[in-house]
Amino acid sequence: MGIAARLESSVERFLAAPVRKMLIDGKWVEAASGKTFDTLNPATGEVLARVAEGDAEDVDRAVRAARRAFDGGPWRRMRPAERERLLLRIADLIEAHAEELAELETLDNGKTLADSRSVDVPSAAATFRYYAGWVNKLTGDTNPSDEAFFNFTLREPVGVCGQIIPWNFPLLLAAWKLAPALACGNTCVLKPAEQTPLTALRLGELLEEAGVPAGVVNIVPGFGPTAGAALVRHPMVDKIAFTGSTEVGKEIQRESAATLKRVSLELGGKSPNIVFADADVEAAVEGALVGVFFNQGQVCCAGTRLFVERKLHDEFAERLAKTAAGMKQGSGLDPETRIGPLVSQEQLERVTGYLEIGKREGARVLTGGERNTAKGLERGYFVKPTVFTGVRNDMRIAREEIFGPVVAVIPFKDEDDAVLQGNDTLYGLAAGVWTRDIGRAHRVARAIRAGTVWVNCYNVFDPASPFGGYKESGYGRELGRYALDLYTQVKSVWLRV
Ligand code: NAP
Ligand code: MG
Repeated sequence: MGIAARLESSVERFLAAPVRKMLIDGKWVEAASGKTFDTLNPATGEVLARVAEGDAEDVDRAVRAARRAFDGGPWRRMRPAERERLLLRIADLIEAHAEELAELETLDNGKTLADSRSVDVPSAAATFRYYAGWVNKLTGDTNPSDEAFFNFTLREPVGVCGQIIPWNFPLLLAAWKLAPALACGNTCVLKPAEQTPLTALRLGELLEEAGVPAGVVNIVPGFGPTAGAALVRHPMVDKIAFTGSTEVGKEIQRESAATLKRVSLELGGKSPNIVFADADVEAAVEGALVGVFFNQGQVCCAGTRLFVERKLHDEFAERLAKTAAGMKQGSGLDPETRIGPLVSQEQLERVTGYLEIGKREGARVLTGGERNTAKGLERGYFVKPTVFTGVRNDMRIAREEIFGPVVAVIPFKDEDDAVLQGNDTLYGLAAGVWTRDIGRAHRVARAIRAGTVWVNCYNVFDPASPFGGYKESGYGRELGRYALDLYTQVKSVWLRV
């Protein structure tokens, strides 16, 4: 492999295994079927590693291990201080292996190494550290009652959690799922995305090193319709936490009904990013770029519908297109790269398909609008950063999640029009507002039906701040203290005094 010379030796070692096995009950095992699948480097299309392909039988073993670890294992009896220390150790280990994890993430997903280093890996560590702080703060209440009784509540873990994550932030979303679940005392079966299983598997090794008992976290790579569906159907799973497409989210909700599992869903988006003419235009251009091109646009909360006040529209679109056209595209390992490849051939086809749809619908390509097959990029899944103008909010490119580096610029008349158009979507994950008028900032932030609103910024996250959707972007809030509600249930205890 041509890139190998530049990699950490630990990464080479990790990739060199004949098969990357799955973690079940504290052991690294092959699939019961013996099957494997390849995970590719999206910058080159080359095979990075061969991975054990979990299916229903493997999921069943993993769920039974998680069940045993929950019902009878040492995990639930562990003292809070010890569990807290364990979560802190996981954070420390992620940081100690930061460079290795960053390189693995960039190789498997395609994202730039700068982003893996500055966003994915440190945020994953921060998430474990944040939830370590909650372990000894999960308190119940004592409730007013007739004096013949004493009534109090306990916050108990939900049980076995099936966690299904996508490929856009593989390590970080594993942390978003595992950290709060473990802090609350649950056990987990995690299914990473087929495109990007590597950092989750490496994280599994670090969890073992940190001292997570056998069976508490099981990691089963495999495909959605087989491994994922088996997890959703398994009667011993108490809860499903899913991040991914709205389509699969609906399927998961339907399937979970049979066993009445608790479900939380973090799904797609078509987020409005609204720029008023009174905004700091330079900051807004930069914010619009970050909003839509970060992670090659493969972000559920990407600001893909860019609403610009009519009198600023043309100038803004021009400036945006000029900067987008100058963003260097290449392998994520190249320090010059600002836009890497999409994750897979499938995503490449999906995104370029939408570029054609946009053109057919009559939108104008200001820049980009096609695959990038420049020298050296021919075999990777590169799409040029694309700015469409002449877009109406009812066009497919303004209604459907594209999940690529594509922005639709749409003019608006005034504040009411911006809110009306901004809310005219099935989704409600996030929104941006750019203005110097503080009253307007507050009004629009309240009026937009979305789980997160960024004012004069975009894509800002912190483990302390909740994240999740309105409408078809799903329900349940991850991060912050709200995730504790996803992973606990309340028991009311009555005592006759
Ligand atoms: P997806 O199918 O929703 O995949 C997300 C996760 O769900 C993956 O682990 C997937 O397994 C699994 N899965 C798929 N079908 C399942 C089923 N029937 N039961 C249980 N689990 C299942 O997303 P995708 O196919 O990777 O991407 C398609 C589109 O979804 C994207 O273009 C984008 O629009 C959207 N998306 C949104 C997000 C987000 O953060 N909101 C993330 C990724 C994608 P596999 O790995 O085998 O597919
Ligand atoms: Mg899929």
